[in-house]
Amino acid sequence: MKAGICYLVGAGPGDPGLFTIKGRACLERAEVVVYDYLCNPLLLKWAPDSAEKIYVGKKAGTHARSQEEINALLVEKARSGKTTVRLKGGDPFLFGRGGEEAEALADAGCLFEIVPGVTSAIAGPAYAGIPVTHRAHNATLTIFTGHEEPGKANSALDYEAIARTPGTKVMLMGVERIEAIVGELLAAGMAGQTPVALVRWATTGAQETLTGTLETIPGLVREAAIKPPAIVVFGDVVTLRTKLNWFEKLPLFGKRIAVTRTRKQAGEFVERLRALGADAFELPTIRIEPPLNKKEFYELVADAHIYDWIVFTSPNGADAFFTAFFEIYRDARDLGAARIAAIGPATAERVRSYHLQVDVQPEKYVAEEIVEELQKETSLENLKILLARAEGAREALAVELVRLGAIVDEAVAYRTVPETSDISGGIRRFREEEIDMITFTSSSTVENFLALNLPLSEKTTTASIGPITSKTMRGRGLQVNVEAKRHDIPGLVEAIRKYW
Ligand code: SAH
Repeated sequence: MKAGICYLVGAGPGDPGLFTIKGRACLERAEVVVYDYLCNPLLLKWAPDSAEKIYVGKKAGTHARSQEEINALLVEKARSGKTTVRLKGGDPFLFGRGGEEAEALADAGCLFEIVPGVTSAIAGPAYAGIPVTHRAHNATLTIFTGHEEPGKANSALDYEAIARTPGTKVMLMGVERIEAIVGELLAAGMAGQTPVALVRWATTGAQETLTGTLETIPGLVREAAIKPPAIVVFGDVVTLRTKLNWFEKLPLFGKRIAVTRTRKQAGEFVERLRALGADAFELPTIRIEPPLNKKEFYELVADAHIYDWIVFTSPNGADAFFTAFFEIYRDARDLGAARIAAIGPATAERVRSYHLQVDVQPEKYVAEEIVEELQKETSLENLKILLARAEGAREALAVELVRLGAIVDEAVAYRTVPETSDISGGIRRFREEEIDMITFTSSSTVENFLALNLPLSEKTTTASIGPITSKTMRGRGLQVNVEAKRHDIPGLVEAIRKYW
């Protein structure tokens, strides 16, 4: 058996660009990844699909696993010969209990290595425009934890010593106790006028910064109802922010932009948006699976020639239909005299790729409009219509056709299932947060997005890479707020920048 090893890797403060090259190399060969709440889940994409990914996060008091359990898990995985990456927010040895994990591995005789990371204690202030040291202001830096309850007997924290020490102080983990901590510092003689900044979700597009003084900061935190994670900086260097605040001034800062993924482009696209300060994230794509009742679908396809109309509602439906059709028949003429309707340009295009003409091409997936288009050809009374559609698709069309006297069979051609679990959290974000914009880089990204069945808020604007994609969007009832002039990723990024 090969010897296992555990890498304790710093994930950096949030911005994936601040993850180290060595950390990425470790992830690329990981068989097991153990990660927690503060690690940007986007980093997990560097790990092989086959790697076992274990979340041991601690979020708002809910301890998924105790520290002892995590230590034991790392030892167990390393012992069983696995290349294990323990991904920890920021730097693993700064208030991350990485020291304890390393000790547990050492005690168990397991191989381990440490890959330091960019800590939030320094990167957080930096992204708020605050250098933690500056020749004109200070020569020392104190980093302390606010995790301990002030006044606790045998506390390791000596607030008097902290207050007495000159220079910048950075506190981690203390937002929830800020009032008591500030009380201790004031009591210990720290000046009430000391400039203070708090940075929440630093280095990400969701970054929020509050500034005040030692006296005012508890009230400001209360008013803004600030929750962890946040770092707090105390000291004169905070005043430099007025001049050096760079990140929050980026043109797309704070804009939540969802990128509908095509495997190749999403990474580059997201990175370009992030470079402009956007809180950009990927939505995973869907995967097409055969329908649950495959037999019924094949029977309907085999009988396709008995219908007057075959209606395709999506490119995936067309693919599923013709794949089945050509497994059953060898000759396209076995489709008989059925006429073909395809909803939207992308669907029509897909049908044509099977060398069949589309007789009617309603633009929008709106039952009334489709029916109107079909009626232009003939009355629907007693016509036999086959609808090739996705499982769980809207019923409105079938209902409307039946109402007009048609005999409708619905062929459930495929199911869409999320391609992977929502490991990078994009779907959760889309459901829970207010998203400023969603971007589409091809007709298939439009179809894939719709197949995910996510609620689209009215406030969410849309951006399209060009007229063909826009046409598909409009055809599927989506508005188009931005359309790129140059139809590539840089062109789309430019159009989005101009829009905001
Ligand atoms: N090892 C980590 C710190 C772990 S302790 C590091 O080096 O950054 C967890 C605390 O880190 C949080 O309570 C918060 O104070 C701070 N923190 C981590 N990431 C942060 C971020 N992106 N923004 C603000 N604070 C962060």
